[in-house]
Amino acid sequence: MITPRWLYVLAAATPARFGDPVIVDETLALADFATLEPGDVVGIGIHTANALRGYELGRQARERGAWVIFGGIHATLYPEEAHQLGGAHGVVRGDGDVVWQTVLDDCAGRTVKHVYEAGRIEAEAFAPARWNLLPRDRYMWASVQTVRGCPKHCSFCSVWRTDGQRPRQRGSDAVIRELVDLRRLGFRFVLLADDNFYPVSHRDLELAAAQGNQQRLQQLTAMRQERFELMNALSGLPPDMVFFTQITMEAAEDPEFLAAMRKANIKGALVGIEAVTPQGLKDVYKDFNAAGEDLVERLRVFRAHGVHVLGSFIFGLPSDRPETFEATISVAQRSELAFAQFVMLQPFPGTVDFGRWEKNMQEDDRQIAGVPLTRYWLIPGNQRPKIYSPHPVMSAEEICRRTQLVWDKFYSLKLIWQRAGCVKSWKARAAFLLISKLYRQMYANTGISTDSARVARSARWARWLARPCRRLFAAAPMPQLEVPPARVELGHIA
Ligand code: SF4
Repeated sequence: MITPRWLYVLAAATPARFGDPVIVDETLALADFATLEPGDVVGIGIHTANALRGYELGRQARERGAWVIFGGIHATLYPEEAHQLGGAHGVVRGDGDVVWQTVLDDCAGRTVKHVYEAGRIEAEAFAPARWNLLPRDRYMWASVQTVRGCPKHCSFCSVWRTDGQRPRQRGSDAVIRELVDLRRLGFRFVLLADDNFYPVSHRDLELAAAQGNQQRLQQLTAMRQERFELMNALSGLPPDMVFFTQITMEAAEDPEFLAAMRKANIKGALVGIEAVTPQGLKDVYKDFNAAGEDLVERLRVFRAHGVHVLGSFIFGLPSDRPETFEATISVAQRSELAFAQFVMLQPFPGTVDFGRWEKNMQEDDRQIAGVPLTRYWLIPGNQRPKIYSPHPVMSAEEICRRTQLVWDKFYSLKLIWQRAGCVKSWKARAAFLLISKLYRQMYANTGISTDSARVARSARWARWLARPCRRLFAAAPMPQLEVPPARVELGHIA
């Protein structure tokens, strides 16, 4: 669905003397190493869910005489694992934008380092993606990053630990240039692939003011001003360009920010709702979110400002009870969400939850396929458990079954059609229906279902639905499009 941005960023970071990189996105087609030659460099980016496949590819590439370099969140957390299991010659930890050139030079000079500590680079050094290498007809959404890092500290999320809590925001000119490149190619739907598009809330400003911390207040105010500058610049792009982003729920208390989003044509946002009860929010260190009826009201504010919300919920929290599942559907539907995803709690490496879980598991020597449970990503996919910690009142099977039922009910034709009222024309409603069904099928295929026949069916449906959906997202290329002139500032103050 979405362009894998990092592959194209690293392509841009590859000096011309090394030639054009061959880009492989295995969600489209499996890697084929038939043309690989000794001395070629194979860079493999992994996250926890695809680490095992990445290691398999690394070993294959090394056998053919290539230099193998790993990067990505998982390799940053477990560099030695990539060496031991993935045939790595070198591992990049942190941002690859700048260090990639050095890695390539070292491969050419046969002086590859065991580990490259690339760390967190400043926003001015973020490389733009090389979109001219992108196959035009394979993706629905393009992706551009405007900020890395998130000041929050949710217990299930590794972003604030890997990308840091200090948001690093790109200047609006660099973002606009990339967006113009994408619109020239015929992409009009773009995901702003940020950790958190709303890094400064009113509450943060009030807190800094109450503490008399003038320096912090100035920093936050400047950061907020930059967000408004970016949104102002987005509003100067062709009006058919539509953006989707990820924000925290606090943005609903900020009508000025929501108004700027509307002007910028940011029409959709993923909001991490996680839980519908105060206790559930405490479980995940997210008590800045609203719960109960306040939550319903808060989420409706987005819709009132023209921002359609994809709400994300987590099931399997210690405070969840059987009735939580039905209560969640009710909140999701009454909050006028356009889409929702219901994921099961999983301890991801790099998170607070994982650290706690790993410690609790010290006495537990259970293994699956010879792999300890605390290294579950190395267990073959079809044998991996779905739930990792015993729940106080529900079995793992019950949580899976109830989660599946929530997906089935929320994406039933009747409820989708009710939600389709968020768009006006019949054509748009039909598109909404198609996309809702696609979304549901894709998720059923990514770890929720325990029934392999159902998973296979979902995969077939998702492939079938993706074709017409892709056509709905395509636009005529605009090769002559110019970068819009800088727009007059709004004179915005926080
Ligand atoms: S879940 Fe969202 S708000 Fe929480 S730390 Fe991660 S990126 Fe930030």
